[in-house]
Amino acid sequence: MEHEQGAVVLRSLRLKVTPRRLAVMNCLGEERAYLSAEEVWHRVRPRLGSIGLPTVYRILDELAGAHIVTRIFRSDRKQYYFLCPNQEHHHHFVCDSCRHVEDMDLCGLDGMTREIVRRSGGRVLSHILQVNGLCAECSKQNREMP
Ligand SMILES: [Zn+2]
Ligand SMILES: [Zn+2]
Ligand SMILES: [Zn+2]
Repeated sequence: MEHEQGAVVLRSLRLKVTPRRLAVMNCLGEERAYLSAEEVWHRVRPRLGSIGLPTVYRILDELAGAHIVTRIFRSDRKQYYFLCPNQEHHHHFVCDSCRHVEDMDLCGLDGMTREIVRRSGGRVLSHILQVNGLCAECSKQNREMP
């Protein structure tokens, strides 16, 4: 994501354009992969000078709250983040090997949602779905291994 583009996106989210927010956005925008908060911190520190890890967490939380950043779940206790400007309802296919993330504009949970409503008598408001696997590239390499 270009510097200017980052500023436009921040403004459209009604977030004030600050050098720190821009640096975090641009850092994530350079990747089609997810990063941990620590990794973001290590990458933005040389550009910003003094910035603490708690500030990086706070900015990532703000960006996640504005739905421009998605949290990626893993079994370790670290927090991972992926920048995704796609505001349409969709899910992510995450490569466990290289961390590549692909947008999947399919959901397939409508039937399950209807069934949950029927059984529970309640209302479904949202859902979280992350699909893990190996991307095409990593899958190919895996097959080539003896
Ligand atoms: Zn991969
Ligand atoms: Zn996405
Ligand atoms: Zn869905």
